[in-house]
Amino acid sequence: MTGDMPRPLSDDERAVMARLLSVPFPGRDELRAQLPFATVEGRCGCGCATVNLAVERAAAPAPVLSSAPVSADLSDGEYYAGIVLLVDGEGYLSCLEVYSIGDEPVRRLPPTEQINARPQG
Ligand SMILES: [Zn+2]
Repeated sequence: MTGDMPRPLSDDERAVMARLLSVPFPGRDELRAQLPFATVEGRCGCGCATVNLAVERAAAPAPVLSSAPVSADLSDGEYYAGIVLLVDGEGYLSCLEVYSIGDEPVRRLPPTEQINARPQG
């Protein structure tokens, strides 16, 4: 936690999550409805674009079947990276995780057209 937290979602974060939530899966509609109630309450210390999320309980919980209901593969042949949307045990958005397997963290969210969202179930 730093002094500028919590903060509203950035336009990029909102766009990436909307893209991930563009594919159907159980709980998707509820997660989409949580976006206006979501704030960023922390970020990863390594310099990557991962953010921890908090959702006002005015929004309804999502009946997801998995704590990682949707993800996207960002691999381009040279490196392996991806994005996962994480949901807490109560059914609320908890993290937009951007990971890479390699030396460099993913510091910026990719353009949404590079994101092929894949439901996990
Ligand atoms: Zn990180």
